[in-house]
Amino acid sequence: MLNIRRSNNILLCSLFFLTALISSNVWCNTDRFIIVGSGMAGAMEAYHAFLDAKKNNQSLCITMYEQNKSLGDTTVSNIAPSLTPDEILSVVPRGQELVKKIQILFSEPGGIRVDDVRGIQGTRATEQFQQQAQLYSMDEVGHNQRTQCLLELGKMSMDMWQKLYEDADAELKEILKSSNFNACYEPTTKGPRSLCNGYRIDLIYNVSNAKARALSMKQDYESLGYNQCALLTPDQVTALDPFLADFCNAHSTKNNGQLEWNHDAIALWRPGGCLDAQVFLPKLYAYLTKHMGTYTNAQGKIENRFQIKFGTKITGLDFAHTNNGQTIISQLHAQNGQTVNLVDQHGATSQCVFCPGESVGTMKNLGLQEPAYAGFAGASLMFTIDIPKSKMLSCAKFRHCMEVHQEGVVLAWQARFRDNKIFIAVAGTKAFYSDRKPNKNEDFAKNRNLLQLNMVNDVLPEFISWALERDTKGQTLTERDLSILEDKGIVTRWAGTRAVVYDGFPTLGCVYTQDHNKIANARCTTHLGSGGVSFAPAAIAISRSAFDKQDNINSFAQTVLRYADSTRSV
Ligand SMILES: Cc1cc2nc3c(=O)[nH]c(=O)nc-3n(C[C@H](O)[C@H](O)[C@H](O)COP(=O)(O)OP(=O)(O)OC[C@H]3O[C@@H](n4cnc5c(N)ncnc54)[C@H](O)[C@@H]3O)c2cc1C
Repeated sequence: MLNIRRSNNILLCSLFFLTALISSNVWCNTDRFIIVGSGMAGAMEAYHAFLDAKKNNQSLCITMYEQNKSLGDTTVSNIAPSLTPDEILSVVPRGQELVKKIQILFSEPGGIRVDDVRGIQGTRATEQFQQQAQLYSMDEVGHNQRTQCLLELGKMSMDMWQKLYEDADAELKEILKSSNFNACYEPTTKGPRSLCNGYRIDLIYNVSNAKARALSMKQDYESLGYNQCALLTPDQVTALDPFLADFCNAHSTKNNGQLEWNHDAIALWRPGGCLDAQVFLPKLYAYLTKHMGTYTNAQGKIENRFQIKFGTKITGLDFAHTNNGQTIISQLHAQNGQTVNLVDQHGATSQCVFCPGESVGTMKNLGLQEPAYAGFAGASLMFTIDIPKSKMLSCAKFRHCMEVHQEGVVLAWQARFRDNKIFIAVAGTKAFYSDRKPNKNEDFAKNRNLLQLNMVNDVLPEFISWALERDTKGQTLTERDLSILEDKGIVTRWAGTRAVVYDGFPTLGCVYTQDHNKIANARCTTHLGSGGVSFAPAAIAISRSAFDKQDNINSFAQTVLRYADSTRSV
């Protein structure tokens, strides 16, 4: 008997006639793949499914369901993704630290509280998250093991991004290049340092004992096998990147003819890359549409094998049991009334992967298990600045890929000469938002965007001076300056979410009903926190292996899958 049950636990019906149709091993024999969520996790799921189908000569169709109306609304289109092996660490403060930080306003040192948004404090989602995070913090050994595992996963993902580029055809290589793709890797040749060759400059300033911070980062990267890290002098920074001369002069003092960093500033040569996902994502989807081709559907209509259905929020699932006892998802229901059948009239069952990212709580709302979750808000600022004619030539070489650190703030930073203008994108900062979605007009985003504007002015005062049409070097910029830039269309402000669970580990692999039945035709790849772009390739690889035979999964993947299990709790 095939029982079909809707996820809100109402028993709908028993469909005897489908029983015989559903094949017994539903994971292996699909040629239709459904992805919920079109962010970076969804994108990497789609690309790897496409590669597999190509290798196996399989005629695959991929359909993505995305609640947003366009890709421009998706998180990665609004940030400046840095690619690093440790990007995912440290979003969730530990135990008592979490309790303490939640009491401190986001704009105070170490604070993450927001006061102007309802539905954050005292809700069930917040209580569950805090309770689990506190219990988890008592397991120091377990936490250290997970942190080490995440660093190794990060290293694996950096290698996979690099391989993705090396194995790409000429068209995809060009897409990556135009998306400011810089891989993070250990250069194979020893020679003078050069930018955009696996390593980059990170700036640290207004941080007491900046040198100790940089040395501790250096130690972490060396433990992962990145051996070319070094502290850079102001003169070395300027020689590598003349566009940083203003910053170096402002944060150093001349001693015996040489510039020396002030005690609260330093620069670190470290492994790191970046990707402009605002450019990359639409181009990757266009590439998949083109290369996967078309087919003729049952009604005789020609359809693309790769499709994204925008404005389609999945809000319900029907579960069914096959005659050999497996539980499957038989239908997805969308808010707009659309129904997606995962079992066709011949009994072929489609596979489905949930990549809901920022929408924490989606799996739980769909009737699947989800560990205690929360969103940590972040803000971004993007500039497009006209270049005076006389400066056009010198700006053509401008290209930044770095992170800029202040006390309690790390900004992922990409900037470059793009379409004859200066393009600068910075993203970072943090506040606890539970399961609420942040909005750019709330206090957090307004305040952090102003901080970001000032940090950009600290590093690149010449460009901000062009934008504000006055000399801004050494000045503290105000809310009014920010709104002038916004009104002129020079700056775009944005606030969004990092999706996490209580232990800061992603959730990957098998999904389960609330009554603990493993679903045979669905997985998840989600909760990638602050590192979803960096970690997407490795997270997808591990998530995809969840249905492999145990003997075929290496011990590292087994460990990751155990930590990442969607039924976990402390
Ligand atoms: C300020 C900030 C800075 C960051 N900087 C970096 C960085 O430098 N490097 C880095 O690696 N990462 C960074 N991140 C993290 C990164 O953006 C995320 O980890 C990544 O976007 C997660 O990708 P995802 O595909 O899992 O989720 P998302 O990007 O959130 O995408 C999920 C998609 O699923 C859709 N969706 C959800 N539920 C449904 C549903 N029920 N039906 C249909 N569609 C649905 C959503 O609309 C969304 O488009 C940053 C994040 C922030 C907020």
